[in-house]
Amino acid sequence: MNLFDAEKFFKKYHGLEFHMTREDEKLYDEFKKMDIPKELIDQWKNDIAYNQKQDSLKRSVKHLYVHVPFCNSICYYCDFCHVIYNEKLVNQWLDQLSKEAYDNCLNQYETIYIGGGTPSCLDYKQLRRLLNIILPYSNNVKEYTIEINPESITLDKIKLFKEYGINRISIGVQSSNDELLKSLNRKHNYEDVVKAVRLLKENDLNNISVDLMYSLPSQTIDILNQTIDDILLLDVPHISLYSLTIEENTVFGKRNVQPLDEQIEADMYELIENKLTKNNYIHYEVSNYCKKGYESKHNLGYWNYDDFLGISIGASSKIGNNRYTNTSSINKYLSGDDIKDEDLKFTNEELMFENIMMSLRTIYGLNIEEFNNRYNVDFIKRYKDALNSEYLKIVNNHLICTNLEILNNILLDFMI
Ligand code: SF4
Repeated sequence: MNLFDAEKFFKKYHGLEFHMTREDEKLYDEFKKMDIPKELIDQWKNDIAYNQKQDSLKRSVKHLYVHVPFCNSICYYCDFCHVIYNEKLVNQWLDQLSKEAYDNCLNQYETIYIGGGTPSCLDYKQLRRLLNIILPYSNNVKEYTIEINPESITLDKIKLFKEYGINRISIGVQSSNDELLKSLNRKHNYEDVVKAVRLLKENDLNNISVDLMYSLPSQTIDILNQTIDDILLLDVPHISLYSLTIEENTVFGKRNVQPLDEQIEADMYELIENKLTKNNYIHYEVSNYCKKGYESKHNLGYWNYDDFLGISIGASSKIGNNRYTNTSSINKYLSGDDIKDEDLKFTNEELMFENIMMSLRTIYGLNIEEFNNRYNVDFIKRYKDALNSEYLKIVNNHLICTNLEILNNILLDFMI
């Protein structure tokens, strides 16, 4: 036994020797004979205490995110963590995910979100296995979302989702213009979207969210206008809208595609805002609109700065003062060894600023009482200068930003 194995052995059994397997009982004799310096043992004990504290925090986490990294093809604007679908690789990934979930999911979650990538590109059997992995943690789930692409959804998969309690579907639509979809390398056309929504509704999955994009190369105001009209006809309760950012490592970035003129982007934003609010959608967060009562509960958790657990490749977790991010390398993830790429510890000051930044994104704002309890501070006293902004108001003990377009400027005053 070398020192590395000794550390693993010590951490596995410290205080729990009576749980040892027969094989490990033999190793224990070897371990006892090793002359391990006291400082090292103390360090290991500290590590154990730290992990126990993190586990106890994990037991109170309410939100679970599961990243499915596979896609059938790569969209030209996308820099998410994704891997081209391969049956064997998906099966190996499911093996590793099952171990990660077993070690880290320590609670029954209120919201679960299976995102990607493209979860619906998994075949029926793989999807069933994925949902079985998550099943033990979904007894009390209130909102259970899965992301799908319109071309890879079938009646069988929809029935499977319902069987496992999934009650919200998020569809990657982006546009209703088929030419524009092709230019993004999307594999669906708008007819696929209409069929997918119809199929979902026929099967009583009505809590549907649609993702759209604007400020796309070759997208005009007229094209966007038509897309919004088409989406309004679908009558879905939630719409997310994202403006294109061209990242270097995407196909668009490599082809040096240029963003649209800022003025056109601003006109597009205004068009979206006018049309959706006139049609009774509430602009409840910077990029999200919904019909009354259809906010994304999972995302509200992020904006409320609740702790969350993320599992699988590239997923992040926020537990107490720590932010963990898993490796985005499929090979490293499948090896199962040290799958964390990042383990950052934040000070309370940093957490407080991020909390404000996240919570002001929604029209419900920041819960001042909760903030004071979380960080043991007096919010009003601490930020009294920043609170002078004419674009901030306090309603029922919640701080609300009245002009989300200039939120970034407002936040600067909270950086103290
Ligand atoms: S946008 Fe979605 S479907 Fe397209 S490559 Fe990215 S994760 Fe995959």
